[in-house]
Amino acid sequence: MFFRSGKTRDIAFRLDALNQLQRVIQENEDELMQALKQDLNKSEFEAYSSEIGVVLAEIRFTQKHLSSWVKPKKVKTPMTHIGSTSYIYSEPYGVSLIISPWNYPFQLALAPLIGAIAAGNCAILKPSELTPNTSEVMRQLMLSVFPQEYIAVVLGGAETSQSLLEEKLDYIFFTGGVAVGKIVGERAAKHLTPVTLELGGKSPCIVHEDANLKLAAKRIAWGKFLNAGQTCVAPDYLYVHTKVKDSFLSHLQQAVQQLYGTEPLKNENYTHIVSERHFARLELLKQSGRIVFGGGTNANQLAMEPTVLTDINWDHPVMQEEIFGPILPVLDYSDLTEVLEGIHHHPNPLSLYLFTNDSSVQKHVLDEVSFGGGCINDTVYHFVSPYLPFGGVGNSGIGAYHGQGSFDTFSHKKGVLKQTTRFDIPVRYPNVKNGLKML
Ligand code: NAD
Repeated sequence: MFFRSGKTRDIAFRLDALNQLQRVIQENEDELMQALKQDLNKSEFEAYSSEIGVVLAEIRFTQKHLSSWVKPKKVKTPMTHIGSTSYIYSEPYGVSLIISPWNYPFQLALAPLIGAIAAGNCAILKPSELTPNTSEVMRQLMLSVFPQEYIAVVLGGAETSQSLLEEKLDYIFFTGGVAVGKIVGERAAKHLTPVTLELGGKSPCIVHEDANLKLAAKRIAWGKFLNAGQTCVAPDYLYVHTKVKDSFLSHLQQAVQQLYGTEPLKNENYTHIVSERHFARLELLKQSGRIVFGGGTNANQLAMEPTVLTDINWDHPVMQEEIFGPILPVLDYSDLTEVLEGIHHHPNPLSLYLFTNDSSVQKHVLDEVSFGGGCINDTVYHFVSPYLPFGGVGNSGIGAYHGQGSFDTFSHKKGVLKQTTRFDIPVRYPNVKNGLKML
């Protein structure tokens, strides 16, 4: 087995693997862009800014910092352990399985892989079957630079995934929906395999009465309709203060028109829905409440306009599940307590976005709501900072990654005490009188 050869423990080997990965991605950018276009109609701009560029930035960050991350960290030692020193060693787990989803099929497969390589693991990558072109290009790229016993890409759907999960693995990193996340958690428990679960859920976005409405509308329109709403950290639904609701909605409509034009279905750069099943699901969700703007579809292309709904309550189907599409339901509120009540009645969100400059409102919401991560006065942008851990809490996931977090996720932290042999302190031994004993 390749991992047992010890090669991946060598830092030069890991850096070389990252260099190879970087090179092969850069050399095949066009092919990747084409595959993303075929699978999801992703524009070159979105393919670069939210997939290829994000992965290349993560590789550069890791290359720059890896030599410091791998060093054993000297930590404090308590007085009771006098004479000894303490270290934390980061060691690779072994063979990691990475299971990834279809919505950012390149980025969500490769970002964890960078962490696995950096930490010195071997990896098996199981990308999504719903984006076959991107998955196939990834398979070919990995095959062209890595031996299969080091990095293998296995193509297939749920059954392939389940048979891989039957194996005794050393780490499992899963990104996908909550239901499948629970299956993965169960399989991992069978072999006591450590696991990261990057899941989803309904992420709220709150627009408070003092918010800069024009800017909020622009940033929300971008974060929601990017990738046609098929983003795990997209604002799922909005809570807008009643005093500013009408004005905000008109800014939102203008912002959507600026981003995608007045006829988004004719915009060649507007992402499509991944499958007929998801398209049909979204058609049903669209029937909740009242359409303020959007609502148009092109069933042949599986495209749906950015659609905003009002007259919504929590009983509507659109509020019962993660939307994962270009539909934005809007609820209004006059007291922040209503918002917090609504959020608290549902599982911990993956993200939360709050638009206000009032620091007491910011503090109140941050103190009151447990969520994976998020932004104040923006959406989605926290996801692309290597300095912030990215992950969920409760139903939205277990564990986090990005930047050093990815290296740490794929490393076991081995705590080691190095004891002196120059003297021995007898207090811990029974039937020995206190005092320092020279050896
Ligand atoms: P999914 O859970 O259906 O599939 C994810 C992966 O699991 C795929 O590779 C798939 O082949 C595999 N899979 C499917 N069924 C399986 C089963 N029964 N057993 C084992 N493996 C199985 O998710 P999806 O539809 O590809 O992606 C959408 C979901 O992913 C949304 O809920 C979204 O919020 C979430 N997501 C989360 C993040 C994050 O970083 N937290 C990112 C993107 C997507």
